[in-house]
Amino acid sequence: MPQAATLAYTQPAYSAAVEKTLGRKPQLFINGEWVDSSHGALLDVEDPSTGKVISQIVDASEKDVDRAVAAARIAFDDGRWSSLPALQREKTMIRLAELIEANADELAELEAIDNGKPKSIAGAVDVPGAANQIRFMAGWAGKLAGETPTPYGLPQGATFAYTLREPVGVCAQIVPWNFPLLMACQKIAPALAAGCTLILKPAEQTSLTALRLADLVAEAGFPAGVINIITGLGETAGDRMVRHPDVDKVAFTGSTDVGKLIGRNATDTMKRITLELGGKSPVIVMPDVDITQASQGAASAIFFNSGQVCVAGSRLYAHRSIYDRLLEGLAEATPRWVPRPALDPAAQMGPLVSSEQYDRVMGYIEAGKRDGASVVIGGDSPSNDGYYVNPTVLADVNPQMSVVREEIFGPVVVAQRFDDLDEVAKAANDTCYGLGAGVWTRDISVMHKLVSKIKSGTVWGNCHTVVDPALPFGGYKQSGIGREQGRQGIEPYLETKTVFIQL
Ligand code: NAP
Ligand code: MG
Repeated sequence: MPQAATLAYTQPAYSAAVEKTLGRKPQLFINGEWVDSSHGALLDVEDPSTGKVISQIVDASEKDVDRAVAAARIAFDDGRWSSLPALQREKTMIRLAELIEANADELAELEAIDNGKPKSIAGAVDVPGAANQIRFMAGWAGKLAGETPTPYGLPQGATFAYTLREPVGVCAQIVPWNFPLLMACQKIAPALAAGCTLILKPAEQTSLTALRLADLVAEAGFPAGVINIITGLGETAGDRMVRHPDVDKVAFTGSTDVGKLIGRNATDTMKRITLELGGKSPVIVMPDVDITQASQGAASAIFFNSGQVCVAGSRLYAHRSIYDRLLEGLAEATPRWVPRPALDPAAQMGPLVSSEQYDRVMGYIEAGKRDGASVVIGGDSPSNDGYYVNPTVLADVNPQMSVVREEIFGPVVVAQRFDDLDEVAKAANDTCYGLGAGVWTRDISVMHKLVSKIKSGTVWGNCHTVVDPALPFGGYKQSGIGREQGRQGIEPYLETKTVFIQL
């Protein structure tokens, strides 16, 4: 990897539409209106491609949160959303998906300058993915149903029993900065389909697309108070959402440490909880693969979104007989991923999201080196501006090192060798996480053996990070509780009421 630490990258100019959005007065979207915060506190919005401040957002106070919860509570309790015909709920959701699609270019650019991901990727993955989350879940609005179980211990005909599925109520939804709009829509979609109302808080680093989403919510025709979008800090606004007595359910995506804290805080009032947390996902490469294809797959498993992906393939296990060739293939695949500014049309990978994330990732690389790991590729930054880290491959690692055990959340993969299936399955499972895993082989028998041995919410065969709204997503072990997407994704937004009538 060429060293180019003096390069100054240039982020191309923003579009007029985005400049206009950035110049708006910082406000919160509560009860169907843009409102001022109860106090004047603001947070800076930074473009990670340049490190420059480009706008400001509201740092919501506890009072602001209380106001948003009150709006959601009233909107739920008076049934203005849940008692609408399911057809109308579905149509309103589809309208929101259409508006996202109609504003795709601006949303992709906003995501790129806020998160640092290439605009081309945001336009191909995040924005259509967000619309599809809503489209898929909209279809459930009219397909929810209870059951009529036959009582077991009572004479037939003496009673009539059935179950009803009812929306759980007011939902507090908190999302991270790595796929801001996509995760926001992944959260709101099942809540809306179930008939819930909600308060959404994006991450402080990446709130721009959630704020634009609020405009589209208003345009789509949702009743006031059904969707409330507030910006602010996790420790203040987020914490208030989690503890608020009028909130019935918390849905969180983020780090495992914060997830544990939120789980504890939400339990005081026995809120329903779903948690999508961190990972340290293995990628296992068997000797029978096409090396070029598998190396490219392993590279995109870790370098996509600058490695800031909860299922990033951050532990590479290559069979001893192909280990050297796979690392050579990885070196050949890597130049494509050298980071560039998010609006550069040639960018495949952008900078990391923030200076904190940059320091964290570089700190892990330094810790790895101190522990004895060797840097095979990268390990440095190509530029003095922005938060760019070159795609990095570390070798000569052992299972005790922090780079092998802990989630780095950057473009850093650790490579290890293995000899047989039991050994690699044991190594793959030697983690507190269990979110994703990739298996590369053409041998269908080996594939299924590994699928059953690996403890994780998703196993990919000959691919990685493929996500679809119809397929459940979530973690085993400390990677989370519950599932999003698919039929399972709507369950956490529904209560079951049993009705038992003596005839
Ligand atoms: P984070 O620090 O846990 O923050 C996530 C969200 O929680 C942010 O909106 C944050 O607010 C908020 N928050 C922080 N402290 C809080 C508290 N005490 N109470 C309520 N809310 C609080 O995670 P991150 O650094 O943004 O995201 C990276 C992590 O997310 C990684 O660990 C990654 O693996 C995980 N992740 C998991 C999945 C999955 O589906 N399993 C998907 C993507 C990411 P502020 O930041 O605005 O203060
Ligand atoms: Mg930003």
